Amino acid sequence: MTERPDLSAFLAARVRDVPDYPLPGVLFKDIAPLLADHEAYTAMVNALAEYGGEHAPGGQVDKVVGIEARGFIVAAPVAYRLGAGFVPVRKQGKLPGETFGTTYDLEYGTATLEVQRGAFTPGDRVLLVDDVLATGGTAAAAMDLVHQAGGVVVGIAVLIELGFLGGRDRLADVEVQALITV
Ligand code: AMP
Repeated sequence: MTERPDLSAFLAARVRDVPDYPLPGVLFKDIAPLLADHEAYTAMVNALAEYGGEHAPGGQVDKVVGIEARGFIVAAPVAYRLGAGFVPVRKQGKLPGETFGTTYDLEYGTATLEVQRGAFTPGDRVLLVDDVLATGGTAAAAMDLVHQAGGVVVGIAVLIELGFLGGRDRLADVEVQALITV
Protein backbone atom coordinates (compact mmCIF):
# COMPACT_ATOMS: atom_id res chain seq x y z
CA MET A 1 0.00 0.00 0.00
CA THR A 2 1.22 3.46 -0.78
CA GLU A 3 0.90 6.27 1.75
CA ARG A 4 -0.09 8.75 -0.94
CA PRO A 5 -3.65 8.37 -2.22
CA ASP A 6 -2.97 10.84 -5.05
CA LEU A 7 0.28 9.14 -6.11
CA SER A 8 -0.59 8.90 -9.79
CA ALA A 9 -1.50 12.59 -10.09
CA PHE A 10 1.47 13.59 -7.90
CA LEU A 11 3.88 11.78 -10.20
CA ALA A 12 2.12 12.77 -13.44
CA ALA A 13 2.43 16.45 -12.49
CA ARG A 14 6.21 15.99 -12.63
CA VAL A 15 6.36 14.40 -16.08
CA ARG A 16 6.85 16.87 -18.91
CA ASP A 17 5.22 16.28 -22.29
CA VAL A 18 7.55 17.21 -25.15
CA PRO A 19 5.78 17.26 -28.53
CA ASP A 20 7.56 16.00 -31.65
CA TYR A 21 10.59 14.57 -29.81
CA PRO A 22 12.68 12.73 -30.89
CA LEU A 23 10.57 12.45 -34.07
CA PRO A 24 7.61 14.41 -35.45
CA GLY A 25 4.35 12.99 -34.10
CA VAL A 26 5.84 11.52 -30.89
CA LEU A 27 4.74 13.00 -27.56
CA PHE A 28 7.83 12.30 -25.46
CA LYS A 29 7.37 11.73 -21.73
CA ASP A 30 10.29 13.52 -20.05
CA ILE A 31 10.74 12.11 -16.54
CA ALA A 32 13.69 14.39 -15.65
CA PRO A 33 11.55 16.76 -13.51
CA LEU A 34 10.24 13.77 -11.53
CA LEU A 35 13.74 12.39 -10.98
CA ALA A 36 14.97 15.80 -9.83
CA ASP A 37 12.26 15.95 -7.15
CA HIS A 38 13.45 13.89 -4.20
CA GLU A 39 9.93 13.23 -2.87
CA ALA A 40 8.60 12.15 -6.25
CA TYR A 41 11.60 9.96 -7.07
CA THR A 42 11.35 8.24 -3.70
CA ALA A 43 7.58 7.78 -3.99
CA MET A 44 7.99 6.29 -7.49
CA VAL A 45 10.69 3.84 -6.38
CA ASN A 46 8.75 2.73 -3.30
CA ALA A 47 5.54 2.21 -5.29
CA LEU A 48 7.26 0.22 -8.06
CA ALA A 49 9.06 -1.89 -5.46
CA GLU A 50 5.71 -3.01 -4.05
CA TYR A 51 5.15 -4.99 -7.24
CA GLY A 52 8.23 -7.10 -6.54
CA GLY A 53 7.87 -7.38 -2.79
CA GLU A 54 6.28 -9.93 -0.51
CA HIS A 55 2.85 -9.28 -2.06
CA ALA A 56 4.07 -10.09 -5.59
CA PRO A 57 2.70 -13.34 -7.07
CA GLY A 58 4.84 -16.01 -5.40
CA GLY A 59 6.47 -13.50 -3.05
CA GLN A 60 9.59 -11.35 -3.17
CA VAL A 61 11.56 -11.38 -6.44
CA ASP A 62 15.21 -12.38 -6.72
CA LYS A 63 16.23 -9.91 -9.44
CA VAL A 64 15.09 -6.65 -10.96
CA VAL A 65 15.82 -6.12 -14.65
CA GLY A 66 16.26 -2.61 -16.08
CA ILE A 67 16.43 -1.64 -19.73
CA GLU A 68 19.05 0.84 -21.02
CA ALA A 69 19.11 3.74 -20.47
CA ARG A 70 16.32 5.50 -18.60
CA GLY A 71 15.15 2.13 -17.33
CA PHE A 72 18.37 1.87 -15.29
CA ILE A 73 17.52 5.07 -13.39
CA VAL A 74 14.11 3.68 -12.49
CA ALA A 75 14.95 -0.01 -11.95
CA ALA A 76 18.24 0.08 -10.03
CA PRO A 77 16.85 1.87 -6.96
CA VAL A 78 13.87 -0.51 -7.03
CA ALA A 79 16.31 -3.43 -6.76
CA TYR A 80 18.11 -1.72 -3.90
CA ARG A 81 14.84 -1.03 -2.12
CA LEU A 82 13.77 -4.68 -2.49
CA GLY A 83 17.08 -6.16 -1.46
CA ALA A 84 17.16 -7.87 -4.86
CA GLY A 85 19.90 -8.12 -7.47
CA PHE A 86 19.95 -5.83 -10.51
CA VAL A 87 20.47 -7.11 -14.06
CA PRO A 88 20.95 -4.71 -17.00
CA VAL A 89 19.46 -5.31 -20.43
CA ARG A 90 21.55 -3.28 -22.86
CA LYS A 91 21.79 -2.32 -26.49
CA GLN A 92 23.87 -4.57 -28.73
CA GLY A 93 27.62 -4.60 -28.12
CA LYS A 94 27.62 -2.93 -24.69
CA LEU A 95 27.92 -6.01 -22.46
CA PRO A 96 31.20 -7.93 -22.26
CA GLY A 97 31.44 -11.70 -22.50
CA GLU A 98 28.84 -14.16 -23.71
CA THR A 99 25.37 -12.73 -24.18
CA PHE A 100 21.90 -13.68 -25.33
CA GLY A 101 20.35 -11.31 -27.86
CA THR A 102 16.97 -10.61 -29.34
CA THR A 103 16.03 -8.38 -32.24
CA TYR A 104 12.67 -6.65 -32.46
CA ASP A 105 10.87 -4.15 -34.68
CA LEU A 106 10.86 -0.44 -33.99
CA GLU A 107 8.68 2.09 -35.78
CA TYR A 108 11.58 2.54 -38.21
CA GLY A 109 13.92 -0.46 -38.51
CA THR A 110 14.93 -2.89 -35.79
CA ALA A 111 16.85 -2.92 -32.51
CA THR A 112 18.79 -5.61 -30.68
CA LEU A 113 18.92 -5.95 -26.92
CA GLU A 114 21.27 -8.22 -24.97
CA VAL A 115 21.69 -9.73 -21.51
CA GLN A 116 24.73 -11.53 -20.14
CA ARG A 117 24.72 -15.31 -19.98
CA GLY A 118 24.85 -16.34 -16.36
CA ALA A 119 23.04 -13.20 -15.20
CA PHE A 120 20.41 -15.37 -13.50
CA THR A 121 20.42 -18.40 -11.30
CA PRO A 122 18.05 -20.83 -13.08
CA GLY A 123 14.51 -20.13 -11.91
CA ASP A 124 15.27 -16.64 -10.55
CA ARG A 125 12.02 -14.70 -10.19
CA VAL A 126 12.30 -11.38 -11.97
CA LEU A 127 10.52 -8.03 -11.90
CA LEU A 128 11.01 -6.11 -15.15
CA VAL A 129 11.02 -2.33 -14.63
CA ASP A 130 11.02 0.46 -17.22
CA ASP A 131 10.07 4.11 -17.46
CA VAL A 132 7.52 3.98 -20.28
CA LEU A 133 5.49 1.12 -21.76
CA ALA A 134 4.53 2.17 -25.28
CA THR A 135 3.98 -0.55 -27.92
CA GLY A 136 5.37 -3.20 -25.57
CA GLY A 137 8.04 -4.30 -28.03
CA THR A 138 10.91 -3.43 -25.70
CA ALA A 139 9.35 -5.17 -22.71
CA ALA A 140 8.50 -8.25 -24.78
CA ALA A 141 12.11 -8.41 -26.00
CA ALA A 142 13.46 -8.02 -22.46
CA MET A 143 11.13 -10.79 -21.27
CA ASP A 144 12.41 -13.05 -24.02
CA LEU A 145 16.01 -12.36 -22.92
CA VAL A 146 15.26 -13.13 -19.28
CA HIS A 147 13.70 -16.43 -20.28
CA GLN A 148 16.64 -17.29 -22.57
CA ALA A 149 18.97 -16.65 -19.64
CA GLY A 150 17.01 -18.91 -17.28
CA GLY A 151 14.98 -16.37 -15.28
CA VAL A 152 11.20 -16.18 -14.89
CA VAL A 153 9.47 -12.82 -15.33
CA VAL A 154 6.76 -12.64 -12.67
CA GLY A 155 5.79 -9.01 -13.24
CA ILE A 156 6.35 -5.87 -15.27
CA ALA A 157 6.20 -2.52 -13.50
CA VAL A 158 6.44 0.80 -15.33
CA LEU A 159 6.11 4.42 -14.34
CA ILE A 160 3.98 5.36 -17.37
CA GLU A 161 1.82 3.23 -19.63
CA LEU A 162 0.65 4.69 -22.93
CA GLY A 163 -2.55 2.66 -22.82
CA PHE A 164 -3.77 3.72 -26.26
CA LEU A 165 -0.87 1.81 -27.86
CA GLY A 166 -2.06 -1.50 -26.39
CA GLY A 167 1.39 -2.61 -25.22
CA ARG A 168 0.03 -4.85 -22.46
CA ASP A 169 -1.76 -7.00 -25.06
CA ARG A 170 1.69 -8.19 -26.20
CA LEU A 171 2.56 -9.14 -22.63
CA ALA A 172 -0.49 -11.25 -21.95
CA ASP A 173 1.20 -13.92 -19.81
CA VAL A 174 2.45 -11.59 -17.12
CA GLU A 175 0.97 -9.01 -14.75
CA VAL A 176 1.65 -5.47 -15.97
CA GLN A 177 1.44 -2.61 -13.46
CA ALA A 178 1.69 1.11 -14.19
CA LEU A 179 1.76 4.04 -11.76
CA ILE A 180 0.46 6.42 -14.42
CA THR A 181 -1.78 5.41 -17.31
CA VAL A 182 -2.27 7.83 -20.19
P1 AMP B 1 7.97 0.32 -26.68
O1 AMP B 1 8.95 -0.72 -27.07
O2 AMP B 1 7.22 0.89 -27.87
O3 AMP B 1 7.03 -0.13 -25.59
O4 AMP B 1 8.80 1.55 -26.15
C1 AMP B 1 9.28 1.53 -24.87
C2 AMP B 1 10.63 2.18 -24.76
O5 AMP B 1 10.77 3.35 -25.54
C3 AMP B 1 10.84 2.56 -23.33
O6 AMP B 1 12.09 1.99 -22.92
C4 AMP B 1 10.83 4.07 -23.31
O7 AMP B 1 11.98 4.55 -22.68
C5 AMP B 1 10.80 4.51 -24.75
N1 AMP B 1 9.60 5.30 -25.11
C6 AMP B 1 8.64 4.93 -25.99
N2 AMP B 1 7.72 5.87 -26.16
C7 AMP B 1 8.08 6.89 -25.36
C8 AMP B 1 7.52 8.19 -25.06
N3 AMP B 1 6.39 8.63 -25.64
N4 AMP B 1 8.15 8.96 -24.17
C9 AMP B 1 9.29 8.52 -23.57
N5 AMP B 1 9.87 7.34 -23.81
C10 AMP B 1 9.28 6.52 -24.69
